[in-house]
Amino acid sequence: MAAAVMAARHGLSVALLDERPSAGGQIYRGVEDGPFRNTSALGSALGADYQQGARAIASLRAADVTIYFGTSLWRIDMAETGGVVSYSHDGVSRRLAFADLVLANGAIERPVPFEGWTLPGVMGIGAAQLLLKTSAMVPAGRIVLAGNGPLTLLFASQLLGLGVEIAAILDTSPSRFGLSAALANFSGLLRNFDKISRGLRLMRDIGRAGIPVHRNVSSLSASGGDRVDAIRFEADGTHHQLDVDMLLIHEGIIPNTQLSRALGCAHVWDDRQKCLRPDIDGFGESSIAHVYVVGDGAAINGAIAAPASAEMAVGRILERMGRSDDRSRATLRRASATLARERAFRPFLDALYPPHISVAAPSDTTIVCRCEEVSAGTLRSAINDGAIGPSQAKAFTRCGMGACQGRICGPIVSQMIASETGQPIGEVGTYNVRFPLRPVTVFDMARCGRDDEQSEGHEHAG
Ligand SMILES: Cc1cc2nc3c(=O)[nH]c(=O)nc-3n(C[C@H](O)[C@H](O)[C@H](O)COP(=O)(O)OP(=O)(O)OC[C@H]3O[C@@H](n4cnc5c(N)ncnc54)[C@H](O)[C@@H]3O)c2cc1C
Repeated sequence: MAAAVMAARHGLSVALLDERPSAGGQIYRGVEDGPFRNTSALGSALGADYQQGARAIASLRAADVTIYFGTSLWRIDMAETGGVVSYSHDGVSRRLAFADLVLANGAIERPVPFEGWTLPGVMGIGAAQLLLKTSAMVPAGRIVLAGNGPLTLLFASQLLGLGVEIAAILDTSPSRFGLSAALANFSGLLRNFDKISRGLRLMRDIGRAGIPVHRNVSSLSASGGDRVDAIRFEADGTHHQLDVDMLLIHEGIIPNTQLSRALGCAHVWDDRQKCLRPDIDGFGESSIAHVYVVGDGAAINGAIAAPASAEMAVGRILERMGRSDDRSRATLRRASATLARERAFRPFLDALYPPHISVAAPSDTTIVCRCEEVSAGTLRSAINDGAIGPSQAKAFTRCGMGACQGRICGPIVSQMIASETGQPIGEVGTYNVRFPLRPVTVFDMARCGRDDEQSEGHEHAG
């Protein structure tokens, strides 16, 4: 949204494509069309950050941007100057030419595989929050939240604000948070004191509600028949069992790299954030000229950094076109300062909330690939039989070949290959991602663009 608004304000022709039916991306989901849009009391339960989304969306709606909502981008072809995106909307596929492309795909929840994670009643905290924002649905019964990170705290506090009872919180962060990690980021902490106090407020809300919090949790498993009814885990070395109706799990988010990988942009392993991310320069430009990756799709820096990184990219595009002016240069300076402040805070969060269950070796019976129902045992045998890379593992076992095209199991497979073979995960690599990214019929592919390719021309900036 920020990239589109800035580019349009500087006279570029801009198209914005988004899978969602309305504006807001992940954090401001439902602000325009969700159940809380007119109910300030309930809206306030989602927090001040959520309500700020209305301003960003109003700027987008006021800008001269051609908006394609409910539109999935499934292919990108680069040409000598710019390229063409293929997208589908209302069951019809079309093509759109561009001179510069700004990818702002956001993040996905880090997959957390453990015995029973595919049972109905076990879901990501992000997914549960999505149901709250878009459909005013809250979990019912004996609810347990497991994992770590800011979203876990935020969602617990949002549920409490809506009067939902939480039976227990299982904190999977290591018990001893390195003081050295905090001190190493001392200047970043000082510059982000507002975030520390917000985090402390969320912890205070949870403390006041008297929710039992189990710390240093490991060896989590869920069991049940048609749906989850019990969980087992270790906390500080002691075994526990709880009866539950709903287990909500979260160990942070990782960049959604399907598009940038399919396009062939170079990627690097980020050891601090424990994820793969596009290799970009200071303005977000990828290894492919005219393709920029911004927001959480480039690196997890949060919702304040995302628009700033988008403005950096547009600033560079304007400069290259010879269209930068005092206003764009001022925006660039502000964006650069915002990014520096936000990025200074991340090492603290990354050290405080490292992934734990998601990087532990899953038991042989744990499902790794949900789409093709491939178990960790099957994958382990394939690795022992010589499938030492993700693409080989895919060919041996079919994992990653289902509807999500490896979006969920990809990080798990790379992690398992690294653990089983002793290779550094950065060297293991990931699945090769191929277009089309979304299911699309052959008929649609063949017909795509016949009607409107000519008329769109090379007019759009991104
Ligand atoms: C599940 C989840 C919940 C979160 N909740 C919070 C929260 O409560 N508070 C908070 O501060 N931060 C939250 N975050 C983090 C926050 O969403 C990000 O920091 C922020 O939204 C980043 O903005 P962005 O523009 O990079 O990505 P996003 O806001 O995620 O926007 C990415 C957009 O790309 C679209 N897209 C992706 N792929 C395609 C495609 N192939 N074709 C078309 N469109 C596509 C998506 O529909 C989406 O609208 C959450 C993240 C996740 C993953």
